[in-house]
Amino acid sequence: MTCFKPPSRPVIEWDCVTFAYGEAVAVEDVSLTIRAGELAAILGPNGSGKSTLIRLALGLLRPLSGAVRLFGRDAVDFADWDRVGYMPQVIAGTWRDFPITVAETVAHGAYRGISPLALFHRSERPEVVEALEAVGMASFRGRRLSQLSVGQQQRVLLARALVRQPELIVLDEPAAGIDVSGEEQLYAVLRDLNRERNITIVIVSHDIGAMLREANTVACMNRTLVRHGPPHELTSAEIARLYGAPVDVLVHDALHEHR
Ligand code: ADP
Ligand code: MG
Repeated sequence: MTCFKPPSRPVIEWDCVTFAYGEAVAVEDVSLTIRAGELAAILGPNGSGKSTLIRLALGLLRPLSGAVRLFGRDAVDFADWDRVGYMPQVIAGTWRDFPITVAETVAHGAYRGISPLALFHRSERPEVVEALEAVGMASFRGRRLSQLSVGQQQRVLLARALVRQPELIVLDEPAAGIDVSGEEQLYAVLRDLNRERNITIVIVSHDIGAMLREANTVACMNRTLVRHGPPHELTSAEIARLYGAPVDVLVHDALHEHR
């Protein structure tokens, strides 16, 4: 039996949002709300406006029309960045020439305008160690970032996004460039942060199977919002239409194995 649960408060609201880069409309008339406690996936083919939607939510872009609110504030005016963790995409090889350690990378997430020299001292602070523990990377804290696998680097960047104890974490293509086991470890950490710490998580991904398994709401983008709802309501046919025929097989497999 299901009991009535009142909807939780909105964390990100896109309200009739349109955005264009010059003449090219990237996001058209999108209305979508992500609520506290959700693990929300944004799916869609390349160029469908997923990253643009995220940039709008983080106030990095201003909508052409409509409104974007983050924790109830206009996203462009939002200033309370301690509440939001953002995990950028890692491109393999990015850290090759950086002599920075794991702990220093995470401490950088806690940096609030003091001298960068102080980073060294901050890197042993409890919140840094705790964030690394949350992603299972505490024992790596003295290692150089360049010596880690891409999957491990991703988890360190997630720790950096976590260090200020945000209420919302936004990840744009977090699984790009990592292998299946690295991906599974990353999703396990995200699942735990969502369920145990009640952190709202928004993931942009092209990994449809993983998102159908992990997310509790799925938004399908194709410049406009094609679909929004729980993953089990999404049919293979709808996803195939979103991406094109070859994905149908993949989705079928995912639904078959995990549902
Ligand atoms: P996705 O993340 O789904 O791949 P994006 O939001 O990055 O899609 O891009 C949506 C559309 O906007 C694409 O057609 C893309 O080429 C275009 N676009 C993205 N960023 C820029 C930019 N900085 N300047 C011009 N066009 C852009
Ligand atoms: Mg993108």
